[in-house]
Amino acid sequence: MPLELTANPLLSERTTLRLGGPAVVEAVVRETADLDELSAFLTRETLPPFVLGAGSNLLAGDGPLELALVHIADCPGPERVERDGEAIIIRCGAGLRLPGLLGWAQKAGFSGLEGMTGIPGTVGGAVAMNAGSYGVEIGDLVTRIRVWSPAGGLVWLDRSQCAFDYRHFSPVKMPGKCLVWEVELALGESDPKSVRRAMHGVYEKKKKTQPVTAWTAGCVFKNPPEESAGRLLDKAGMKGVRLGHMAFSDIHANFLVNLGGGNAADALELMDMGRARVFEQFGITLEPEVIVL
Ligand SMILES: Cc1cc2nc3c(=O)[nH]c(=O)nc-3n(C[C@H](O)[C@H](O)[C@H](O)COP(=O)(O)OP(=O)(O)OC[C@H]3O[C@@H](n4cnc5c(N)ncnc54)[C@H](O)[C@@H]3O)c2cc1C
Repeated sequence: MPLELTANPLLSERTTLRLGGPAVVEAVVRETADLDELSAFLTRETLPPFVLGAGSNLLAGDGPLELALVHIADCPGPERVERDGEAIIIRCGAGLRLPGLLGWAQKAGFSGLEGMTGIPGTVGGAVAMNAGSYGVEIGDLVTRIRVWSPAGGLVWLDRSQCAFDYRHFSPVKMPGKCLVWEVELALGESDPKSVRRAMHGVYEKKKKTQPVTAWTAGCVFKNPPEESAGRLLDKAGMKGVRLGHMAFSDIHANFLVNLGGGNAADALELMDMGRARVFEQFGITLEPEVIVL
């Protein structure tokens, strides 16, 4: 089957911040067989490729973007693979939405992912970002990852071949970027009610402290060592600061919100303003967590 290609895919329709102009093309891969076609496409295509998950950690620019998007759709799983001592090993495709995985784990009574309740990305995006909250990072649970690159093909990497850092994943000894295709995680055994209670508790806390239903991309800046970027931005007076139709949330100062009709230029200016004020007051340089395209 030829690869599914869409011309001029709009980033504003593919990102949770609802910002961004058109990329040049989007290639959608659904099954392993599509990867050969993807390889041929990437050889033909001179544009830089960009793997797009759920677009929940992206700030895409307003104008046309010289990018070829690659998106995984129709993912298999999740499924229980085996027991390894106390742990239950589960497997799922990288395009699966994290909330879908959490819902499945809850019903099956598998624990470990509860802290990640409310993170809206895909499993592949969560691995690529080593996403985490409330004391859990996905990298802590990974046992194996199946990655793909045009040069290396499709290979399983053991945990020891994966380097996870704060909001960062890279395969050890594998140059360049790769597509995360499938993931295995080690979860604990619990009962559905306790898992549901824990997930509900995390979501209730997040609802009180984060703009969970607004158009955002999660935290804009990474937390500096031993610090909280939200606290620094709050103390620097950035909470609720607005430019055009973009604003730092008045619930959580590290979330940029699109109030409707916002644009990336204003979002970037607000980020610069926040970074400058925090540096002036605390001498700390904030690093973006959100990926700017
Ligand atoms: C309301 C809200 C709350 C959030 N809360 C949290 C939180 O608590 N903790 C947290 O860590 N994050 C949080 N985020 C940010 C975001 O949800 C996570 O970073 C998420 O893991 C990104 O996944 P995604 O599929 O949306 O990736 P995208 O935003 O599409 O992409 C992010 C990066 O991952 C890469 N990528 C995506 N899929 C793949 C793949 N299959 N293979 C290789 N690379 C890939 C992209 O190329 C890009 O570099 C939040 C976001 C929102 C909107």
